[in-house]
Amino acid sequence: MAVALTAVEPFAERRRRVSELRTRNGFARQLLDFYGALLGVQETAFADAGSSPPAAEALGAYVAEVVVPSVVDVSVAAGPDRLRGDLMSRLAAEEPRGIVERWMRGDDQPPIDRYLARASLGPVLEALGHDARSACGGPRDARHCPECGGPPQLAFFALAKDDLATGPRYLVCARCAATWGYPRITCAACGEDASTRLRIFSEHGTTSGERGSVVRGLPNGGVTAEHRAFFPHMRIEACESCRRYLLSVDLAVDPAAVPLVDEMAAIPLDLFAREQGFSKITPNLMGF
Ligand SMILES: [Zn+2]
Ligand SMILES: [Zn+2]
Repeated sequence: MAVALTAVEPFAERRRRVSELRTRNGFARQLLDFYGALLGVQETAFADAGSSPPAAEALGAYVAEVVVPSVVDVSVAAGPDRLRGDLMSRLAAEEPRGIVERWMRGDDQPPIDRYLARASLGPVLEALGHDARSACGGPRDARHCPECGGPPQLAFFALAKDDLATGPRYLVCARCAATWGYPRITCAACGEDASTRLRIFSEHGTTSGERGSVVRGLPNGGVTAEHRAFFPHMRIEACESCRRYLLSVDLAVDPAAVPLVDEMAAIPLDLFAREQGFSKITPNLMGF
């Protein structure tokens, strides 16, 4: 029987995972503490938008007025120094509504604008569903969110229905967090499907017959003194044709993972991919 999600459930799950990972991944603790504080603000924005939804055509104005001020407050209080400085100088020069609306349209933006717009608009789009998401710009093709046209943030493998099958692959939208199905061995940026052009890097090396390489240079040389991997459930999926990559989370390996949170805390994998000359399809909320 399907169980309906309660209003705050996605955020409760994210908070749970943040507290698990902040103990486990010491190198990401500051980032996770900040993200945990931001989640509190986003959860309120999600609940408010769900209980009295704005009209789709007023979305940018609503987010600028109702959500942006508390995202700015929490970022100034709990964010890194540079973020604080960048936010202050941006907001002195620019109206938040324009910043949010450019993110809705999919325009190019400086990282600070993208952070503010994403952090503020994301929970509102999650709460409102289809009509609001349709107000956003972007292609509606296999490599963009069918709901809002946003780019994929990450991929994940869901749990398989029976033990023998491998779970289906999904992409998660960077703008509204919707998920959509996508073929396993296909680049999420350019659609390349020649397996010789696709590269997989993981902490453990090759996974079940796929061409892979071991990620080196992780904290403590990749493996701790206890030989415990930090990211046994994650890998870098890169493409030689377009030189882009994204991170992928396998829920069969760690069913407690919450893909959006795990992706954000996997900074060493991003650094490794960059060292190999790949650039991420979309940097995440924290800019990695
Ligand atoms: Zn979307
Ligand atoms: Zn590609």
